[in-house]
Amino acid sequence: AVIANIDSKEEELNCYVTFDREAALSAAKEAQKKIEAGELTGPLAGVPIAIKDNMCTEGVLTTCSSKILGNFIPQFSSEAVKRIEEAGAVVIGKTNMDEFAMGSTTETSAYGPTKNPWNTEHVPGGSSGGSAAAVAANECFCALGSDTGGSIRQPASYCGVVGMKPTYGTVSRYGLIAYGSSLDQIGPLCKDVTDCATIMEVIASHDKKDSTSVERKDTDFTSALVDDVAGMRIGIPRDYFGEGLDPQVKEAVLSAAEVLKSKGAIVEEFDLSLVEYAIPTYYTIAAAEASSNLERFDGVKYGFRAKDYDGLHSMYKKTRSEGFGPEVKRRIMLGSFVLSSGYYDAYYLKALRVKAMIKKAFDEAFAKYDVILGPVAPTTAPKLGSSLADPIKMYLGDIYTISVNLAGLPGISVPCGKDDNGLPIGVQLIGDCFNEKKLIQTAYAYE
Ligand code: GLN
Repeated sequence: AVIANIDSKEEELNCYVTFDREAALSAAKEAQKKIEAGELTGPLAGVPIAIKDNMCTEGVLTTCSSKILGNFIPQFSSEAVKRIEEAGAVVIGKTNMDEFAMGSTTETSAYGPTKNPWNTEHVPGGSSGGSAAAVAANECFCALGSDTGGSIRQPASYCGVVGMKPTYGTVSRYGLIAYGSSLDQIGPLCKDVTDCATIMEVIASHDKKDSTSVERKDTDFTSALVDDVAGMRIGIPRDYFGEGLDPQVKEAVLSAAEVLKSKGAIVEEFDLSLVEYAIPTYYTIAAAEASSNLERFDGVKYGFRAKDYDGLHSMYKKTRSEGFGPEVKRRIMLGSFVLSSGYYDAYYLKALRVKAMIKKAFDEAFAKYDVILGPVAPTTAPKLGSSLADPIKMYLGDIYTISVNLAGLPGISVPCGKDDNGLPIGVQLIGDCFNEKKLIQTAYAYE
Protein backbone atom coordinates (compact mmCIF):
# COMPACT_ATOMS: atom_id res chain seq x y z
CA ALA A 1 0.00 0.00 0.00
CA VAL A 2 2.86 2.37 0.84
CA ILE A 3 4.57 1.64 -2.46
CA ALA A 4 1.30 2.28 -4.31
CA ASN A 5 1.15 5.68 -2.61
CA ILE A 6 4.72 6.39 -3.61
CA ASP A 7 3.90 5.38 -7.20
CA SER A 8 1.02 7.82 -7.38
CA LYS A 9 2.31 10.78 -5.34
CA GLU A 10 6.07 10.82 -5.35
CA GLU A 11 6.60 12.47 -8.70
CA GLU A 12 4.79 15.55 -7.46
CA LEU A 13 5.86 15.55 -3.79
CA ASN A 14 9.55 14.53 -4.07
CA CYS A 15 9.78 13.16 -0.52
CA TYR A 16 12.62 10.76 -1.33
CA VAL A 17 16.15 11.25 -2.59
CA THR A 18 16.56 7.48 -2.86
CA PHE A 19 13.75 5.01 -3.32
CA ASP A 20 14.47 1.65 -4.91
CA ARG A 21 11.05 0.21 -5.71
CA GLU A 22 12.20 -3.36 -6.32
CA ALA A 23 14.44 -3.47 -3.25
CA ALA A 24 11.65 -2.07 -1.06
CA LEU A 25 9.10 -4.53 -2.40
CA SER A 26 11.33 -7.55 -1.98
CA ALA A 27 12.34 -6.44 1.54
CA ALA A 28 8.65 -6.12 2.42
CA LYS A 29 7.87 -9.58 1.00
CA GLU A 30 10.84 -11.06 2.83
CA ALA A 31 9.63 -9.48 6.08
CA GLN A 32 6.13 -10.81 5.53
CA LYS A 33 7.44 -14.35 5.02
CA LYS A 34 9.48 -14.13 8.19
CA ILE A 35 6.56 -12.74 10.16
CA GLU A 36 4.35 -15.60 8.99
CA ALA A 37 7.05 -18.11 9.93
CA GLY A 38 7.35 -16.49 13.36
CA GLU A 39 10.95 -15.47 12.69
CA LEU A 40 10.39 -11.71 12.73
CA THR A 41 8.72 -10.57 15.91
CA GLY A 42 10.18 -7.18 16.83
CA PRO A 43 7.96 -4.23 17.76
CA LEU A 44 8.34 -2.79 14.24
CA ALA A 45 8.10 -6.08 12.34
CA GLY A 46 7.37 -5.33 8.69
CA VAL A 47 6.68 -1.60 9.20
CA PRO A 48 7.89 0.54 6.28
CA ILE A 49 10.05 3.32 7.68
CA ALA A 50 11.86 6.11 5.85
CA ILE A 51 15.18 7.60 6.93
CA LYS A 52 16.35 11.19 6.53
CA ASP A 53 19.22 11.27 4.07
CA ASN A 54 21.77 12.44 6.66
CA MET A 55 21.84 9.07 8.40
CA CYS A 56 24.30 6.54 7.05
CA THR A 57 22.78 3.40 5.60
CA GLU A 58 25.13 0.56 4.69
CA GLY A 59 25.31 0.10 0.92
CA VAL A 60 22.64 2.76 0.28
CA LEU A 61 23.36 6.22 -1.11
CA THR A 62 23.48 8.87 1.64
CA THR A 63 23.67 12.38 0.21
CA CYS A 64 22.61 14.87 2.94
CA SER A 65 20.78 16.34 -0.07
CA SER A 66 24.12 17.79 -1.17
CA LYS A 67 25.99 17.52 -4.44
CA ILE A 68 29.19 17.02 -2.46
CA LEU A 69 27.92 13.63 -1.21
CA GLY A 70 26.12 12.86 -4.46
CA ASN A 71 27.87 9.49 -4.82
CA PHE A 72 28.57 8.59 -1.20
CA ILE A 73 27.65 5.02 -0.26
CA PRO A 74 28.46 4.37 3.43
CA GLN A 75 30.02 1.12 4.57
CA PHE A 76 28.04 1.10 7.79
CA SER A 77 24.64 2.08 9.14
CA SER A 78 24.03 4.66 11.81
CA GLU A 79 23.13 3.24 15.22
CA ALA A 80 19.52 4.52 15.04
CA VAL A 81 18.99 2.85 11.65
CA LYS A 82 20.51 -0.38 12.96
CA ARG A 83 18.15 -0.37 15.91
CA ILE A 84 15.14 0.29 13.66
CA GLU A 85 16.14 -2.67 11.49
CA GLU A 86 16.77 -4.92 14.46
CA ALA A 87 13.23 -4.12 15.63
CA GLY A 88 11.99 -5.58 12.33
CA ALA A 89 11.31 -2.43 10.29
CA VAL A 90 11.69 -2.32 6.53
CA VAL A 91 13.75 0.72 5.61
CA ILE A 92 12.19 1.74 2.33
CA GLY A 93 14.10 4.84 1.33
CA LYS A 94 16.04 7.97 2.17
CA THR A 95 14.15 11.22 2.49
CA ASN A 96 14.86 14.66 1.13
CA MET A 97 16.08 17.44 3.42
CA ASP A 98 17.68 20.84 3.42
CA GLU A 99 21.31 20.47 2.38
CA PHE A 100 23.24 19.27 5.47
CA ALA A 101 20.06 20.02 7.49
CA MET A 102 20.58 23.77 7.08
CA GLY A 103 17.26 25.38 6.37
CA SER A 104 13.59 25.40 7.31
CA THR A 105 11.84 24.56 4.05
CA THR A 106 13.65 21.64 2.32
CA GLU A 107 14.32 24.06 -0.53
CA THR A 108 18.09 24.11 -0.03
CA SER A 109 18.24 20.45 -1.17
CA ALA A 110 20.41 19.88 -4.24
CA TYR A 111 17.72 17.46 -5.42
CA GLY A 112 14.80 19.87 -5.68
CA PRO A 113 12.28 20.87 -3.01
CA THR A 114 9.74 18.56 -1.38
CA LYS A 115 6.14 19.77 -1.53
CA ASN A 116 3.62 19.92 1.27
CA PRO A 117 1.06 17.11 0.77
CA TRP A 118 -1.75 19.35 2.11
CA ASN A 119 -1.10 22.00 -0.52
CA THR A 120 1.63 21.46 -3.08
CA GLU A 121 2.20 25.19 -3.53
CA HIS A 122 3.61 25.26 0.00
CA VAL A 123 6.80 23.92 1.57
CA PRO A 124 6.71 20.94 3.97
CA GLY A 125 9.03 22.75 6.39
CA GLY A 126 12.54 21.60 7.13
CA SER A 127 15.05 20.45 7.37
CA SER A 128 13.38 17.02 7.76
CA GLY A 129 10.73 18.03 5.19
CA GLY A 130 10.95 14.82 3.15
CA SER A 131 10.39 12.72 6.28
CA ALA A 132 7.39 14.78 7.42
CA ALA A 133 5.78 14.89 3.98
CA ALA A 134 6.32 11.15 3.45
CA VAL A 135 4.48 10.35 6.70
CA ALA A 136 1.67 12.82 5.92
CA ALA A 137 1.24 11.41 2.40
CA ASN A 138 1.31 7.77 3.53
CA GLU A 139 4.52 7.22 1.60
CA CYS A 140 5.75 5.47 4.77
CA PHE A 141 4.31 4.82 8.23
CA CYS A 142 7.01 6.56 10.23
CA ALA A 143 10.26 8.31 9.46
CA LEU A 144 13.41 9.26 11.28
CA GLY A 145 14.50 12.88 11.20
CA SER A 146 17.14 14.96 12.93
CA ASP A 147 16.62 18.15 14.90
CA THR A 148 19.39 20.70 15.47
CA GLY A 149 17.17 23.74 15.84
CA GLY A 150 13.66 22.48 15.10
CA SER A 151 14.09 20.28 12.06
CA ILE A 152 11.78 17.52 13.33
CA ARG A 153 9.20 19.61 15.17
CA GLN A 154 8.70 22.34 12.58
CA PRO A 155 8.11 20.12 9.51
CA ALA A 156 5.91 17.87 11.68
CA SER A 157 3.84 20.95 12.50
CA TYR A 158 3.65 22.09 8.85
CA CYS A 159 2.63 18.61 7.66
CA GLY A 160 0.18 17.71 10.44
CA VAL A 161 2.14 14.81 11.94
CA VAL A 162 3.68 14.12 15.35
CA GLY A 163 7.43 14.81 15.63
CA MET A 164 9.67 14.45 18.65
CA LYS A 165 13.15 15.69 19.48
CA PRO A 166 14.47 13.69 22.44
CA THR A 167 16.72 14.96 25.23
CA TYR A 168 20.26 15.46 23.90
CA GLY A 169 22.16 12.21 24.39
CA THR A 170 19.13 9.90 24.29
CA VAL A 171 19.57 8.65 20.72
CA SER A 172 23.05 7.80 19.46
CA ARG A 173 24.41 10.21 16.85
CA TYR A 174 26.79 7.55 15.53
CA GLY A 175 26.44 7.61 11.75
CA LEU A 176 24.41 10.81 11.71
CA ILE A 177 26.28 13.21 9.44
CA ALA A 178 27.04 16.07 11.80
CA TYR A 179 25.71 19.61 11.46
CA GLY A 180 25.96 21.16 14.95
CA SER A 181 27.17 18.25 17.07
CA SER A 182 26.25 19.75 20.44
CA LEU A 183 22.66 20.31 19.26
CA ASP A 184 21.88 17.44 16.83
CA GLN A 185 19.44 14.73 17.92
CA ILE A 186 17.68 12.01 15.93
CA GLY A 187 13.96 11.50 16.54
CA PRO A 188 10.75 10.11 15.04
CA LEU A 189 8.08 11.63 12.78
CA CYS A 190 4.88 9.62 13.07
CA LYS A 191 1.15 9.55 12.53
CA ASP A 192 0.33 9.67 16.24
CA VAL A 193 1.80 9.78 19.73
CA THR A 194 1.55 6.00 20.19
CA ASP A 195 3.77 5.39 17.15
CA CYS A 196 6.11 8.10 18.39
CA ALA A 197 6.53 6.44 21.81
CA THR A 198 7.03 3.06 20.12
CA ILE A 199 9.81 4.34 17.85
CA MET A 200 11.40 6.26 20.72
CA GLU A 201 11.60 3.08 22.73
CA VAL A 202 13.44 1.39 19.86
CA ILE A 203 15.96 4.12 19.04
CA ALA A 204 16.85 5.36 22.54
CA SER A 205 20.00 3.61 23.64
CA HIS A 206 23.34 4.08 25.26
CA ASP A 207 26.03 3.72 22.61
CA LYS A 208 29.75 3.69 23.30
CA LYS A 209 30.32 4.89 19.75
CA ASP A 210 28.81 8.28 20.65
CA SER A 211 30.59 9.83 23.62
CA THR A 212 27.61 12.12 24.33
CA SER A 213 25.18 9.22 24.53
CA VAL A 214 23.61 8.77 27.96
CA GLU A 215 22.80 5.57 29.80
CA ARG A 216 19.11 5.74 30.75
CA LYS A 217 16.94 3.24 32.54
CA ASP A 218 13.66 5.03 31.83
CA THR A 219 13.24 4.43 28.12
CA ASP A 220 10.00 2.43 28.43
CA PHE A 221 8.24 5.34 26.73
CA THR A 222 5.09 3.40 25.80
CA SER A 223 4.30 3.08 29.52
CA ALA A 224 3.57 6.83 29.42
CA LEU A 225 0.69 6.39 26.96
CA VAL A 226 -1.83 7.22 29.66
CA ASP A 227 -4.86 9.45 29.12
CA ASP A 228 -4.43 11.46 32.30
CA VAL A 229 -3.21 15.01 32.85
CA ALA A 230 -5.05 15.70 36.09
CA GLY A 231 -2.81 17.92 38.22
CA MET A 232 -0.15 18.23 35.52
CA ARG A 233 1.42 21.70 35.76
CA ILE A 234 1.65 23.34 32.36
CA GLY A 235 3.42 26.67 31.84
CA ILE A 236 2.72 28.96 28.89
CA PRO A 237 5.56 31.42 28.20
CA ARG A 238 4.00 34.86 27.63
CA ASP A 239 6.99 35.77 25.47
CA TYR A 240 5.97 33.10 22.94
CA PHE A 241 2.67 34.78 22.14
CA GLY A 242 3.78 38.30 21.31
CA GLU A 243 4.47 40.08 18.06
CA GLY A 244 5.07 38.03 14.92
CA LEU A 245 2.82 35.12 15.85
CA ASP A 246 0.07 34.49 13.31
CA PRO A 247 -3.33 34.95 15.01
CA GLN A 248 -4.68 31.64 13.68
CA VAL A 249 -1.64 29.78 15.03
CA LYS A 250 -2.06 31.55 18.36
CA GLU A 251 -5.72 30.59 18.61
CA ALA A 252 -5.11 26.94 17.73
CA VAL A 253 -2.23 26.61 20.20
CA LEU A 254 -4.17 28.25 23.03
CA SER A 255 -7.15 26.04 22.32
CA ALA A 256 -4.87 23.02 22.85
CA ALA A 257 -4.05 24.45 26.28
CA GLU A 258 -7.79 24.73 26.97
CA VAL A 259 -8.29 21.05 26.12
CA LEU A 260 -5.61 20.07 28.62
CA LYS A 261 -7.13 22.39 31.21
CA SER A 262 -10.53 20.79 30.72
CA LYS A 263 -8.87 17.45 31.44
CA GLY A 264 -7.59 18.65 34.79
CA ALA A 265 -4.20 20.17 33.98
CA ILE A 266 -3.18 23.34 35.82
CA VAL A 267 -2.35 25.86 33.11
CA GLU A 268 -0.54 29.09 33.95
CA GLU A 269 1.28 31.86 32.10
CA PHE A 270 4.86 32.77 33.02
CA ASP A 271 7.81 34.82 31.81
CA LEU A 272 10.56 32.96 30.01
CA SER A 273 13.24 35.56 29.62
CA LEU A 274 16.07 35.49 27.08
CA VAL A 275 13.83 34.36 24.21
CA GLU A 276 15.10 37.22 22.05
CA TYR A 277 18.69 36.00 22.40
CA ALA A 278 17.97 32.46 21.23
CA ILE A 279 18.32 33.11 17.50
CA PRO A 280 21.69 34.91 17.49
CA THR A 281 23.02 32.39 20.02
CA TYR A 282 21.86 29.40 17.99
CA TYR A 283 23.11 30.69 14.65
CA THR A 284 26.52 31.49 16.15
CA ILE A 285 26.98 28.07 17.76
CA ALA A 286 25.40 26.00 14.96
CA ALA A 287 27.41 27.77 12.25
CA ALA A 288 30.64 27.45 14.26
CA GLU A 289 30.17 23.72 14.69
CA ALA A 290 29.06 23.31 11.08
CA SER A 291 32.13 25.08 9.72
CA SER A 292 34.31 22.66 11.66
CA ASN A 293 32.26 19.54 10.89
CA LEU A 294 32.12 20.26 7.17
CA GLU A 295 35.90 20.63 6.85
CA ARG A 296 36.07 16.92 6.09
CA PHE A 297 34.36 17.36 2.71
CA ASP A 298 37.48 18.24 0.79
CA GLY A 299 37.27 16.10 -2.34
CA VAL A 300 39.64 13.51 -0.92
CA LYS A 301 37.76 11.34 1.54
CA TYR A 302 34.19 11.36 0.25
CA GLY A 303 32.00 11.76 -2.76
CA PHE A 304 32.33 14.55 -5.22
CA ARG A 305 35.61 15.99 -6.55
CA ALA A 306 35.80 18.87 -9.03
CA LYS A 307 37.13 17.91 -12.45
CA ASP A 308 39.70 20.50 -13.48
CA TYR A 309 42.07 21.79 -10.86
CA ASP A 310 45.62 22.89 -10.54
CA GLY A 311 47.22 21.41 -7.42
CA LEU A 312 45.84 20.41 -4.03
CA HIS A 313 44.49 23.75 -2.83
CA SER A 314 42.84 24.42 -6.13
CA MET A 315 41.18 20.98 -5.84
CA TYR A 316 39.88 21.79 -2.33
CA LYS A 317 38.62 25.16 -3.44
CA LYS A 318 36.92 24.01 -6.61
CA THR A 319 35.41 20.91 -4.99
CA ARG A 320 33.92 22.91 -2.13
CA SER A 321 32.82 25.80 -4.37
CA GLU A 322 31.04 23.45 -6.75
CA GLY A 323 29.89 20.86 -4.19
CA PHE A 324 28.19 23.03 -1.54
CA GLY A 325 25.08 25.11 -2.11
CA PRO A 326 24.71 28.80 -1.12
CA GLU A 327 23.12 28.27 2.33
CA VAL A 328 25.84 25.83 3.39
CA LYS A 329 28.55 28.22 2.20
CA ARG A 330 26.93 31.06 4.12
CA ARG A 331 27.05 29.00 7.34
CA ILE A 332 30.65 27.88 6.76
CA MET A 333 31.72 31.50 6.31
CA LEU A 334 29.76 32.70 9.34
CA GLY A 335 31.10 29.82 11.45
CA SER A 336 34.70 30.37 10.39
CA PHE A 337 34.32 34.05 11.22
CA VAL A 338 32.97 33.56 14.75
CA LEU A 339 35.69 31.00 15.51
CA SER A 340 38.57 33.04 14.13
CA SER A 341 41.14 34.52 16.46
CA GLY A 342 40.16 37.93 17.72
CA TYR A 343 36.43 37.16 17.26
CA TYR A 344 36.19 33.90 19.18
CA ASP A 345 35.72 35.58 22.57
CA ALA A 346 33.37 38.24 21.26
CA TYR A 347 31.03 35.86 19.45
CA TYR A 348 31.47 32.15 20.03
CA LEU A 349 32.37 32.28 23.69
CA LYS A 350 29.66 34.84 24.37
CA ALA A 351 27.13 32.61 22.62
CA LEU A 352 28.14 29.69 24.85
CA ARG A 353 27.56 31.89 27.91
CA VAL A 354 24.09 32.89 26.71
CA LYS A 355 23.37 29.22 25.99
CA ALA A 356 24.11 28.45 29.66
CA MET A 357 21.78 31.29 30.73
CA ILE A 358 18.99 29.95 28.53
CA LYS A 359 19.39 26.53 30.14
CA LYS A 360 19.20 28.16 33.57
CA ALA A 361 15.97 29.98 32.63
CA PHE A 362 14.44 26.65 31.62
CA ASP A 363 15.69 25.00 34.84
CA GLU A 364 13.84 27.67 36.80
CA ALA A 365 10.69 27.12 34.74
CA PHE A 366 10.81 23.37 35.28
CA ALA A 367 11.03 23.88 39.03
CA LYS A 368 7.44 25.13 38.67
CA TYR A 369 6.05 23.26 35.66
CA ASP A 370 6.00 19.71 34.32
CA VAL A 371 5.55 20.80 30.73
CA ILE A 372 5.87 24.05 28.78
CA LEU A 373 3.33 24.64 26.02
CA GLY A 374 3.69 26.99 23.06
CA PRO A 375 3.71 27.29 19.28
CA VAL A 376 6.17 25.40 17.07
CA ALA A 377 6.50 28.10 14.43
CA PRO A 378 5.11 31.63 14.04
CA THR A 379 3.14 30.76 10.89
CA THR A 380 1.87 27.79 8.92
CA ALA A 381 3.89 26.49 5.94
CA PRO A 382 4.98 29.35 3.65
CA LYS A 383 4.67 29.21 -0.12
CA LEU A 384 7.45 27.55 -2.10
CA GLY A 385 10.02 30.11 -3.19
CA SER A 386 9.06 32.73 -0.62
CA SER A 387 11.79 32.02 1.98
CA LEU A 388 15.10 31.57 0.20
CA ALA A 389 15.56 35.19 -0.81
CA ASP A 390 15.59 36.37 2.79
CA PRO A 391 17.69 34.08 5.03
CA ILE A 392 17.35 36.30 8.10
CA LYS A 393 13.56 36.06 7.90
CA MET A 394 13.89 32.30 7.61
CA TYR A 395 16.17 32.20 10.66
CA LEU A 396 13.66 34.23 12.68
CA GLY A 397 11.06 31.52 12.05
CA ASP A 398 13.07 29.22 14.34
CA ILE A 399 12.35 31.35 17.41
CA TYR A 400 10.23 28.78 19.31
CA THR A 401 12.23 25.67 18.56
CA ILE A 402 15.92 26.50 18.88
CA SER A 403 16.15 27.25 22.60
CA VAL A 404 15.02 23.65 23.21
CA ASN A 405 18.17 22.45 21.41
CA LEU A 406 20.36 25.00 23.15
CA ALA A 407 19.13 23.69 26.51
CA GLY A 408 19.24 20.03 25.40
CA LEU A 409 15.55 19.52 26.26
CA PRO A 410 13.00 17.15 24.73
CA GLY A 411 10.20 18.67 22.65
CA ILE A 412 7.25 17.30 20.72
CA SER A 413 5.00 18.79 18.05
CA VAL A 414 1.41 17.56 17.96
CA PRO A 415 -1.22 18.65 15.40
CA CYS A 416 -3.72 21.10 16.95
CA GLY A 417 -5.68 22.56 14.06
CA LYS A 418 -5.57 24.05 10.58
CA ASP A 419 -5.54 27.57 9.20
CA ASP A 420 -8.08 28.99 6.72
CA ASN A 421 -6.07 27.52 3.85
CA GLY A 422 -6.27 24.02 5.32
CA LEU A 423 -2.61 24.02 6.34
CA PRO A 424 -1.84 22.18 9.60
CA ILE A 425 -0.79 23.87 12.85
CA GLY A 426 1.20 22.14 15.60
CA VAL A 427 1.42 22.76 19.32
CA GLN A 428 4.81 22.30 20.94
CA LEU A 429 5.23 20.66 24.33
CA ILE A 430 8.63 21.02 25.97
CA GLY A 431 9.83 18.89 28.87
CA ASP A 432 12.70 18.97 31.31
CA CYS A 433 15.78 16.92 30.40
CA PHE A 434 15.05 13.17 30.51
CA ASN A 435 11.38 13.82 31.06
CA GLU A 436 10.05 12.55 27.72
CA LYS A 437 7.48 10.47 29.55
CA LYS A 438 5.62 13.54 30.83
CA LEU A 439 5.65 14.93 27.29
CA ILE A 440 4.34 11.71 25.82
CA GLN A 441 1.64 11.48 28.49
CA THR A 442 0.52 15.08 27.91
CA ALA A 443 0.62 14.72 24.14
CA TYR A 444 -1.30 11.43 24.29
CA ALA A 445 -3.97 12.91 26.56
CA TYR A 446 -4.37 15.87 24.24
CA GLU A 447 -4.38 13.98 20.94
N1 GLN B 1 16.25 25.89 10.59
C1 GLN B 1 17.35 25.62 11.45
C2 GLN B 1 18.67 25.78 10.70
O1 GLN B 1 18.63 26.03 9.54
C3 GLN B 1 17.23 24.26 12.07
C4 GLN B 1 17.68 23.16 11.21
C5 GLN B 1 17.79 21.85 11.91
O2 GLN B 1 17.21 21.64 12.99
N2 GLN B 1 18.56 20.97 11.32
O3 GLN B 1 19.71 25.66 11.27
